[in-house]
Amino acid sequence: MSEKKEIKCSFCGRGKSEVNVLIAGVTGHICDSCISQAESIIKEELAQNAQHEIESSLVLQKPEEIKAYVDNYVIGQDEAKRVLSVAVYNHYKRLLQKPSSTHDEVEIEKSNIVLVGETGTGKTLLAKTIARMLNVPFCIADATILTEAGYVGEDVESILTRLLQAADYDVSKAERGIVFVDEIDKIARKSDNASITRDVSGEGVQQALLKLLEGSDVNVPPQGGRKHPEQKLIQINTRNILFICGGAFDGIQPLIERRVKTTTIGYSSSQESALFDRDNMLQYVSPADLKSYGLIPELIGRFPVLSYLNPLDRDTLRRIITEPKNALIKQYVKLFDMDGVKLSFDKDVLDFIVDRAIEYKLGARGLRSICEAILTDLMFELPSQSELKEFNVTLQYAEEKFNKSKLSQLKVA
Ligand code: ADP
Repeated sequence: MSEKKEIKCSFCGRGKSEVNVLIAGVTGHICDSCISQAESIIKEELAQNAQHEIESSLVLQKPEEIKAYVDNYVIGQDEAKRVLSVAVYNHYKRLLQKPSSTHDEVEIEKSNIVLVGETGTGKTLLAKTIARMLNVPFCIADATILTEAGYVGEDVESILTRLLQAADYDVSKAERGIVFVDEIDKIARKSDNASITRDVSGEGVQQALLKLLEGSDVNVPPQGGRKHPEQKLIQINTRNILFICGGAFDGIQPLIERRVKTTTIGYSSSQESALFDRDNMLQYVSPADLKSYGLIPELIGRFPVLSYLNPLDRDTLRRIITEPKNALIKQYVKLFDMDGVKLSFDKDVLDFIVDRAIEYKLGARGLRSICEAILTDLMFELPSQSELKEFNVTLQYAEEKFNKSKLSQLKVA
């Protein structure tokens, strides 16, 4: 019997007897250890490619440039804008940090952000505007619909499903996106009665959220909904995803005041009141207050950046309807222009809109509903009246339309 020639790995030359597995190809063979080695080369290569891709697609904007861009869309809120601009700048510097440079052991940590401010003061708008400027995927998730895994509601992973959808299912894009989690205050631990029952929508959700913030590999159901065994999951690494959370934190003001008072013991009360603006205690918010409010310390620890938004005063509301790049009034003028009609407003109409928003406690969101109440009839009739080339909205017209609208019946006592 003639001795058979031993098959060898075409890469390292080891014979079949020297390796665990030898896989045959069309013209050669490869052994298990060459496969592992090749795998690590591929991984390294892909990581380098991804880093190159990040570097070429990201234009690092300086904080002042970021703020200047946001100024085009968001009125006021200077403090929040400055803090956000710096946080975003640092976050993207962190993304550009070469993997090798972490060997010096200075690893820049993520700058997740919490924004505290009444509803409708621009928290979402700020986050959305920054994401648009950076041209990264952005999604908004509502913390109130999240529940601990196993309960009715959505798992926290569903947040990443949205981000993935916003990134057109491009995982590496999604991994550099921005997530805005709204109403983070609603998952605060209900401090005093937490021991009675399992806190389905509170602490459990905070714990689950922590996992996302920590920068781990998370298995995400691509179509959303609950995870079920048949659905193929997509793995997303959250290391470079920036989380911005917003909340009104109703009732936090007294907590801030109490803390501020205890830390200023020693001042006479007159000195104290001179130091603090009691009408807007939110500006003194600190991580300690979020803890008193019911966020768990681990979660607070994942949000190194904390800022606040001011309530919108009359002046700011007035600027909001005309100044931003896509201000409401500009949008209506454009809509009418598309029908060939030149729309204009008397100045006192704009004051009227702002006054009603304040009177009906509708805030900035209400500005739009008030404009709709005033302009709907016109928008209904105008497209069929081809002879009309311009329309000026007078105060009398605005009052008449507003007073007959459903909105005017909603006045809060
Ligand atoms: P929040 O997230 O704080 O509840 P939003 O950002 O959703 O509030 O604001 C609601 C709407 O009100 C925005 O879409 C925008 O039209 C308007 N708005 C609120 N605050 C501002 C602001 N500071 N500048 C410009 N528009 C604002």
